[in-house]
Amino acid sequence: MMNQQIEDAESALLHTYNRFQIVLDCGKGVYLYDSNGKKYLDFVSGIGVFALGYQNEAYNQALKDQIDKLIHTSNYYYNVPTIEAAKKLKKITGMDRVFFTNSGAEAIEGAIKAARKYAFNKDNTTDHEIIAMEHSFHGRTMGALSVTGNPKYREAFEPLIGNVRFAQLNDFDSVLEQLSEKTCAIILETVQGEGGIIPASEEFLKKLRALCDEKNILLILDEIQCGMGRTGFMFAWQKFWVKPDIMTIAKAVAGGIPAGAFLMTEEVAKNSLVAGDHGTTYGGNPLVGAAINKVLDLFEENHIIENVNLVSGYLEEQLDLIVEEYDFVQGRRGAGLMQGLLFDHPVAEVINKALEHGLILINAGTNIIRFLPPLIIQKEHVDEMIGILKKCLS
Ligand SMILES: *Cc1c(COP(=O)(O)O)cnc(C)c1O
Repeated sequence: MMNQQIEDAESALLHTYNRFQIVLDCGKGVYLYDSNGKKYLDFVSGIGVFALGYQNEAYNQALKDQIDKLIHTSNYYYNVPTIEAAKKLKKITGMDRVFFTNSGAEAIEGAIKAARKYAFNKDNTTDHEIIAMEHSFHGRTMGALSVTGNPKYREAFEPLIGNVRFAQLNDFDSVLEQLSEKTCAIILETVQGEGGIIPASEEFLKKLRALCDEKNILLILDEIQCGMGRTGFMFAWQKFWVKPDIMTIAKAVAGGIPAGAFLMTEEVAKNSLVAGDHGTTYGGNPLVGAAINKVLDLFEENHIIENVNLVSGYLEEQLDLIVEEYDFVQGRRGAGLMQGLLFDHPVAEVINKALEHGLILINAGTNIIRFLPPLIIQKEHVDEMIGILKKCLS
């Protein structure tokens, strides 16, 4: 059955992904099942989306209730779930204003527009510049692609939005080299995801914050992958308390309903986007609002961050043992339940073998295996994962 489904998929879908040869059919907790009924331990969670695990009853019920009430209106009207979601996001981020989007890339688009408008209002000129980081990933739309530091993703689609300059993550001097009178924003992931699970250092973040304050430049932190408890803090920047002027979130925020947001301080809000400057048909509709509300409630009720901090130390220990045991595994890096194992060769074969053995893993770059399990995993799941991984390595 599954082979026929894959054949159908390959004849109908645009081939923009080299997909793994399985069709996923249902999930429960931290396990997924394909349409032949085979069970997989999930250490990807849909790239950091399904943090609360599959078939969470309270989450599913909240969606069902909202579906029976009201799914969509328009942003020309208010709706209660989204008002509640915005209030909760303000509280946990310390930011002042929220704009809901349908994806991460759109959150980046909004952040870029807000930064440009802020600079325009300040000096009445255009042509402002943005500094982004090499090896960053911010999404696939034209604006988000423009600040994505991977030439392979950008090249065929140029010209993108102009005036983006690239610096090296954790190299403050390289930022200074790109700085000009026209710089309006610096954008980075607090922990680089696709680029290879590389955390921004405390020193780097603090120097960026000071530079931005001095020059009245906006600091934009992309927390789309590393936010929402993933690193053991609600947002990764809260580890060092380097607060951005604009931040972007998505992935885990609505637990699988397509949603994101960009948030900003009051200072940015009152000097940037106004009525007519930005909009979206679906963003923050009642179903999305209900999903975000429930996700945020469940983070508290189920002590998700405590669990991340409890289990991630154990995951780190176990991954470090792998580094010790196998010569070709060169190191581990990451934070919380966002970890990467660095190999001295491509990891595609290991990942395919793991799939055969019932473990879902993904790469970040060619030589790095990325671990983004649901945030509800327990030590026993780490043991199960390590057991399968070892089989695939020997
Ligand atoms: C996934 C991701 C995006 C893009 O989000 P989409 O919802 O796929 O558009 C942007 N930034 C980071 C850090 C991401 O991991």
